[in-house]
Amino acid sequence: MLCICKETFKQDYEQKFLELYGKELKEGTDYQRYEALGSLVRDYIAKEWLSTDKKYHSSKVKQVYYFSMEFLLGRLLSSSLLNLGIRDLCREALEELNIDLEGLEELENDQGLGNGGLGRLAACFLDSMASLNIPGHGCGIRYKYGFFQQKILEGSQVEFPDNWLKENNVWEIKRSDKAVVVKFGGSVKMESLKERLLFTHVNYEPVLAVPYDTPVLGYKNGTVNTLRLWSAEPVGNDFDFSTFSRGDFLKAIEYKNSIEAISQVLYPDDSIVEGRILRLKQQYFFVSAGIQSIIKNFKKNGNSITDFDDKVSIHINDTHPALAIPELMRILMDEEGLSWEDAWRITENTISYTNHTILSEALEKWPVDIFKTLLPRIYMIVEEINERFCRYLWNKYIGQWQKISEMAIIADGFIRMANLAIVGSHSVNGVAKLHTEILKKQVMANFYYNSPHKFNNKTNGITHRRWLLQANPHLTKLLCETIGESFIYHPTDMERFEAFAEDKGIHERLYQIKKENKINLANYIKKSCGLIVDTNSIFDVQVKRIHAYKRQTLNILHVIDLYNRLLENPNLDITPRTFIFAGKAAPAYHLAKNIIKLINAVGKKINEDKRIRDKIKLVFLENYRVSLAEKIIPAADVSEQISTTTKEASGTGNMKFMMNGAVTIATLDGANIEIRDEVGDDNIVIFGLTEQQVLNYYKNGGYNSTEVMRKDIRLQKVMDSLINGTYSKDHNDFRPIYDALITYNDEFFVLKDFSSYLEAQSRINSLYEDFRTWQRMSAINIAHSGIFSSDRTIEEYATGIWGSGYLYKNL
Ligand SMILES: *Cc1c(COP(=O)(O)O)cnc(C)c1O
Repeated sequence: MLCICKETFKQDYEQKFLELYGKELKEGTDYQRYEALGSLVRDYIAKEWLSTDKKYHSSKVKQVYYFSMEFLLGRLLSSSLLNLGIRDLCREALEELNIDLEGLEELENDQGLGNGGLGRLAACFLDSMASLNIPGHGCGIRYKYGFFQQKILEGSQVEFPDNWLKENNVWEIKRSDKAVVVKFGGSVKMESLKERLLFTHVNYEPVLAVPYDTPVLGYKNGTVNTLRLWSAEPVGNDFDFSTFSRGDFLKAIEYKNSIEAISQVLYPDDSIVEGRILRLKQQYFFVSAGIQSIIKNFKKNGNSITDFDDKVSIHINDTHPALAIPELMRILMDEEGLSWEDAWRITENTISYTNHTILSEALEKWPVDIFKTLLPRIYMIVEEINERFCRYLWNKYIGQWQKISEMAIIADGFIRMANLAIVGSHSVNGVAKLHTEILKKQVMANFYYNSPHKFNNKTNGITHRRWLLQANPHLTKLLCETIGESFIYHPTDMERFEAFAEDKGIHERLYQIKKENKINLANYIKKSCGLIVDTNSIFDVQVKRIHAYKRQTLNILHVIDLYNRLLENPNLDITPRTFIFAGKAAPAYHLAKNIIKLINAVGKKINEDKRIRDKIKLVFLENYRVSLAEKIIPAADVSEQISTTTKEASGTGNMKFMMNGAVTIATLDGANIEIRDEVGDDNIVIFGLTEQQVLNYYKNGGYNSTEVMRKDIRLQKVMDSLINGTYSKDHNDFRPIYDALITYNDEFFVLKDFSSYLEAQSRINSLYEDFRTWQRMSAINIAHSGIFSSDRTIEEYATGIWGSGYLYKNL
């Protein structure tokens, strides 16, 4: 633990500033003050980083590596100060120097190397592993450009590159000495040597993988783990361009660019995959680099390769890093000389896999011809895994060709990554109870019945340190005053707050805290889009990726209906509401972009309409990201979690909102079910089709959205307004949405759930109007949110999947 006093801190800071810029603090820019503070904090971390490393080395404790194509870390200054336990000290010290800490924190670019929930989960897990003293490290790609920046121009999304490394990143350290070579293309030479076949990869294109390490610190425990992100460089970067003739010079540049392209940019698809060759390159690139470096480290420790699975766990976040399976096989056989059988045992024991979605458009598969050309040796291994697995299936399921072909890893010219991941790992987990049940009984039923012991559930979580302590200091203070500080280390202790759920004084405090957070958000809204919102209105919030299955459309149809009713009756008895949206659409996802356009068009219309007397307002905040979520979520009264039942594997946004005292309006989907189980039916508002009903429609048909529309005149009117010029001069502007809902029969049951949703929204209104009821609901949600801390999730992974979780306790 870092021990430091305010005076020393001030001296260190001034010294750091002088070193970096050769001038005094007061002569510098604000950004320089941020950068100097970040550098100083990283220096403070360095000692503990080294000693954690040494401790892991000497104790030979099992190491966990979390492989993920995405890490959505957000900002690191505030969380580092918090976890070091010096945030207050730092704030006071800076105040004495006339510097505002929060102001500096705002200058940091988000580290946005992820799309949404999956990437953010990886970030929460890193925080929890370090805070629980688990030797768990991240492995991923250091994209030069993160998730795109979104601007709303004339009501539509426009994408701009996220050049997050434009300024120096103070949190990372480049480790050129730890670079490794990753090989693409070429061919495989086979020779017999004694009784063995020897495989040599020849004529390949080498790519240098250079690691950049970011420290991941635990909460006040001195543990500092490592997030290692790989960057692609040409091998032998230093050749002299000036000696090339002009033609060769350009060729050399082209070559350099083609290599660097590998870690150039994050694919901006969430829950949709595009089978691009560059993405396959990215996957093999970081997986191969990651495993090579793990093995080097492992051997440096003097371990024998046959003990690998005792000392190493590799977890793959979705199938994106599933090439870890053939890559580990390759190294164990071709480089370490193990037999297939020994290599397979070690690989299966080492690797575990999390499935994140049942959406078929998100299941990865790679065309064999592309795969084979790019990764010839890896393809041979995948082929062999497939052959052995199919042989086993033939013997087990005699004559059941349908089942066998469904389970094959290679079929119809494609490699199915989920099948590879299941076969090559010892654990397959879903991310919420319902999701895991659907995997076991539907999507992966064949595999489940073949190897039931592999399947298990690990309901997602969020780090309460970022999403409560850091994002909502006022609420944190109230909790500390009422139930003490134990919940900081044991988040389920928040249950003690339930004893205050009926307390009038606490209701008042909760109201005031929410109000302050709403005022802060209102100021941000004013600044960012010029709109003035009423902080006495209900803040009704849906922030997440824009996707048809998440049903932002259902939300906007409700807004339109409410607007219609207010026009008919301007005295309609409702509490004023502010509808707040934020979220990015994948640039190629036209329907999602159309939804953003509709939300903005509706907002423009109702915000300018004097007739409804400010009863409702609508805001779309651009560029949703972690740092914006930290501002929005603590200010929410209502949390919109309205995905089509069965489609949202878990959701984590839902957990952040409840922890901050919002009341959830939800379908019984993903972790919403577990939230309902925790708070009880009285403290959440549930609506919509059940799992059974949805599955039944998908299986047997029988849904007709046009019929539903015709039977409901409110809905008829809302739908007409999409195509009659109400929200845009061009009647065809919102055709894509209209067609998805009517012409293509509403795949996500938006119209079907419409009336049930309206009814739920009117319940929200009544509940809010009863002050005591609402504050009690809010208190109970907070009290029961502790179980959704990612500390609980990580404990379950450590003991249930990675093994020997208990070992870490005494470290
Ligand atoms: C938590 C989070 C998400 C995931 O939200 P869901 O509502 O679970 O889809 C996405 N993006 C950011 C920036 C987040 O913080």
